Amino acid sequence: MTGLTPRVFVDFDGTITKVDVGDMFFRKFGNEEDSLKAVEKWKDGTLSGSDLLMREASFVKVTREEAFEFARRCEIDESFKTFLSFCNESEIDVRILSDGLDFYITEILNVNGISGIPIYSNRATFDSIRIEIERPYESDCTKCANCKGYQILTQTGPDDVIIYIGNGFSDRCAVQYADIIFAKDELLKYCEENNITYFPFASFDDVLAKLRKVAASGNFRKRHRAELKRREAYLTE
Ligand SMILES: [Mg+2]
Repeated sequence: MTGLTPRVFVDFDGTITKVDVGDMFFRKFGNEEDSLKAVEKWKDGTLSGSDLLMREASFVKVTREEAFEFARRCEIDESFKTFLSFCNESEIDVRILSDGLDFYITEILNVNGISGIPIYSNRATFDSIRIEIERPYESDCTKCANCKGYQILTQTGPDDVIIYIGNGFSDRCAVQYADIIFAKDELLKYCEENNITYFPFASFDDVLAKLRKVAASGNFRKRHRAELKRREAYLTE
């Protein structure tokens, strides 16, 4: 045993769900063309994450009922539930970090009978056919509205081994501070290109298989580069 505590942080859109629900929501109820262009600008660094979110939300026309109905139709990776049961039995803390919106995350989890996971995301409130966005976790990060790297730094301590599971562009800030990374899609490419050690996964079955092995050996280790990055971040605070 290393005496370290494993902590799981997991992305929501395209990781727990089969598709990017936030993207779909803004394309369906907002301005699809503008949304696609704005996302490109965000990815090339000319639009901040907060500006992207506010821009996409400004075009949205939807009632609360329509939005929730849309959320209820989105599917999750079924193996997430088995993964979660394992973490609960093993007393491994699991939290959702999302740069998406709270209403669809909670509704999709509810529909699938999943409760009790802390969620850190942006918030939406409904007013007739408009939505209002709140960003309760704003940080100095220009890439994200809710920076997952910032969340990890503020929620973990020196005895934690940070396990991160994600798939996309908004997971980049998180992985630099994570010790054990599970990546797919865009995030996998990013890890490859930046020589960040990761495990590829297709579903939570793959994540669980690996996690079981590590848990059985009790060998949760820190990743040296992540530890240095965390230290660096604490010192420049
Ligand atoms: Mg994602």
